[in-house]
Amino acid sequence: MRYSIYSIIACLFFLSGCTATQKGAGVGAVLGGGVGYAIGKQSGHGAEGAGIGAAAGAIGGALIGNNMEEKVFCSECGRKFKSSVEYCPYDGTALKAAE
Ligand SMILES: [Zn+2]
Repeated sequence: MRYSIYSIIACLFFLSGCTATQKGAGVGAVLGGGVGYAIGKQSGHGAEGAGIGAAAGAIGGALIGNNMEEKVFCSECGRKFKSSVEYCPYDGTALKAAE
């Protein structure tokens, strides 16, 4: 995990000022935990299921959130990319900051 659980929890209470990745992980953990608990309860392992569900949800949520962090765009084709990408992989144009 790139982010500690504390920063994710802090994010849930202070939604401004954290990255989309952290928001995604927090939301994923809550949803995953709920689903995991429901599934675990059916088989008599509620707490276990919630833990596994939260972990899986946090990872899935972080991946989704990470994909939402698109900070640069290509002036040639208009595609958006994460700020770590410097050149458009489709046409090689130098990417510009979206904000
Ligand atoms: Zn392009």
